[in-house]
Amino acid sequence: MNSSAALAFEITESTQRQSEQDRQKILDNPGFGLHFTDHMVVIDWSLTKGWHGARVQPYGPLLVDPASSVLHYAQEIFEGLKAYRHQDGSIWLFRPQDNARRMQRSAARLALPELPEEDFLQSIRELIKVDHMWVPGSGETSLYIRPFMIANERFLGVRAAQHAAYYVIASPAGAYFPKGVAPVNIWVSQAHTRAGRGGTGAAKCGGNYSASLLPQQEASRNGCSQVLFLDAQEGKYLEELGGMNLFLVRKDGSLLTPSLTGSILEGVTRDSIITLAKDRGRAVEERKITLEETVNGLATGEIVEAFACGTAAVITPIAMIKGDGVSAGREDAPAGELTMSIRKELTDIQYGRLPDPHQWMVKV
Ligand code: PMP
Repeated sequence: MNSSAALAFEITESTQRQSEQDRQKILDNPGFGLHFTDHMVVIDWSLTKGWHGARVQPYGPLLVDPASSVLHYAQEIFEGLKAYRHQDGSIWLFRPQDNARRMQRSAARLALPELPEEDFLQSIRELIKVDHMWVPGSGETSLYIRPFMIANERFLGVRAAQHAAYYVIASPAGAYFPKGVAPVNIWVSQAHTRAGRGGTGAAKCGGNYSASLLPQQEASRNGCSQVLFLDAQEGKYLEELGGMNLFLVRKDGSLLTPSLTGSILEGVTRDSIITLAKDRGRAVEERKITLEETVNGLATGEIVEAFACGTAAVITPIAMIKGDGVSAGREDAPAGELTMSIRKELTDIQYGRLPDPHQWMVKV
């Protein structure tokens, strides 16, 4: 990691850290997004001063002016990545530069300031330096890192805010599938879409996720754990899930994934899977995929596997795709062979059990 970051961080250590015993209890059964480490990063920004006041301070509530545009106009972006503990105790990040760059692209779209890549990396390094004991070390556990940025100028006019703040919080994460990787059903939302042409679909902004909650409830009511969104113009092409990208595997062994049309998020996991599949000599096609060809392909056996991917669950096999008048795949479909072997290869790289041919891992 680049240690010549432009910003110097002031460190204020918490006087009320969790006791070792309480921390251990949490790390033994962390769940996801429930518990937070003892510290957080804050960096302030203003149009006149630029980035300043970089600091690590005790984790705690924010004081946000009620007129801040984040609260009214959702001028907010975030990122998600993980720190992994290797067998020798060392701590590593997976392709953090890609998260830094994606956050810059999200910032540009939401008219927020871009944090330089090296400051993004350094902010995470500084947090892990004080909270390293929060990185769990067993099985498929990790420390989930959540950088985010909000517009916090006291002004109700609708324009780009001139004051913002960047934060990093971190939360120990348990194995996503503690009882073994289990295929899930996904629900095709036909009444709601996620992102239109020229919209914010390619940005990781809070608004995209609040808009996905209602269709997510519809998915749950129909026994599905995730929503699959179709394109907004024609309503016939697969885009992505509420928080994951999507892949199909054809019977000839090639992979198929929706192309980056500007309305889906450029997943770091998606890109890594494309690279690993190509390393194995497999063809990977990125193009527009219709729901119709997917449903037909699953019925005829042309499509033999389907999976979703993202930082949280790495790779999740898909058993069925359901929707109004849609039913494809089998409820009891086992996890696909290629799905599981790519999943294993990727997690082996992340946990340092395999060499890292693409230099994806960055030591903290
Ligand atoms: N799509 C959406 C909408 C997401 O929220 C995520 C999770 N960040 C992804 C795809 C997967 O991205 P990544 O592989 O970078 O986690």
